[in-house]
Amino acid sequence: MTSPSTLLLHPDYPAHADPGPAIPGRAIVPAIARSTINTLDGPGADALVAGHGLRDADVYGRFGTATTREAAKLIARLEHGEAALLTSSGMAAITTTLTSLIPPGGRFVCADVVYGGTDSVIATGLAARGIQTARFDACEPAQLEQLLRELEPDLVWCESIANPLLQVARVRELAQLCQTAGVPLGVDATFAGGMAQHPLELGASVVVHSATKYLNGHSDVIAGAIVSDEATIDRCFATLCHTGCCIDPQAAWLLARGLRTLPLRWDRQVQTANLLAARLADHPAVARVHHPSLARDAMCAAPLRSAGAVLAFELASRDEDAAQRMLARLRLCTHATSLGGIETLICLPSRTSHASLDPQLRRSRGIADALLRLSVGIEDPEDLWADLARALAH
Ligand code: PLP
Repeated sequence: MTSPSTLLLHPDYPAHADPGPAIPGRAIVPAIARSTINTLDGPGADALVAGHGLRDADVYGRFGTATTREAAKLIARLEHGEAALLTSSGMAAITTTLTSLIPPGGRFVCADVVYGGTDSVIATGLAARGIQTARFDACEPAQLEQLLRELEPDLVWCESIANPLLQVARVRELAQLCQTAGVPLGVDATFAGGMAQHPLELGASVVVHSATKYLNGHSDVIAGAIVSDEATIDRCFATLCHTGCCIDPQAAWLLARGLRTLPLRWDRQVQTANLLAARLADHPAVARVHHPSLARDAMCAAPLRSAGAVLAFELASRDEDAAQRMLARLRLCTHATSLGGIETLICLPSRTSHASLDPQLRRSRGIADALLRLSVGIEDPEDLWADLARALAH
């Protein structure tokens, strides 16, 4: 397999075959295929009538254009999957996958700590479809084993590195249990950025990303991706055709542009995050730091190649007002939601990504009101540390 830094720039370069002659006069940057309609004298017309093959045909913009298909191909290759489908957001990728793979009245097993938006889908969308959900600790495969036996679910779900507590799911073991039970495992791999881990290689059936985060990396695109085998992507595509949650070609083009620098951004961001996690853990004003680099055993069990650039920490005072005062003092670390981009962002998950969760339930899952989540960007590491240390000194 060609390394990501090569394949994201040269997606058609064959890894193990003669690449053949170069195409003369080739555009280095692809054009954006914006047309929402194509003439019906090509293979698209047949696909429209037959009801299959639409995913690869030029017919109508909701089914995709050359630009959205190119970006999807890049993400499929990055995640070592057969096929990928791009959606209008990460949430659209999650709801499309869940509603495609769990029938009404079905059963769902989900890790206990996940993005707050996923919790909301479970509590509203899935519940309204009569779907029963049970929760488990993704670091404790034995809990899943029991639920697989008792509930016989249609789908199991976890995040490779969970938002916001950064627990590392034991994806290989969870996938083995799911395979034995004949149940697909879906992994929201947003926090692994397509770089730390490839869940499909570890036995997962489907991977989703909020491509808004690391994959795009520049905080200027909302997008999602689903990666799996062709049959699963066809099922998700059928749902997308009904819901219309397709990606816009402009967003897909920006996403593909962002992807070209993903390996560089990732290495720099992770290196700085490792450094900041270690220094925060040593700081007397900090009670606890959550980052996979500080939990080597969990990284090996996962397995994870690198820890990602998001960390979370609690101040020694464990006081939300103190956390708010710290946010107000920071100048380089910007108080904003989201993560994975080139600029360093910091927020309170209790007031952002997990604000929709019942406060009691949120606290019972270990997400304290005063927990701070830091997404490390590409700024100079020492400048970032100086900003954090100055705010902590108060
Ligand atoms: N999955 C995870 C792990 C996330 O953190 C988020 C958003 O923060 C999403 C999905 C939703 O992505 P989007 O905001 O692109 O809809």
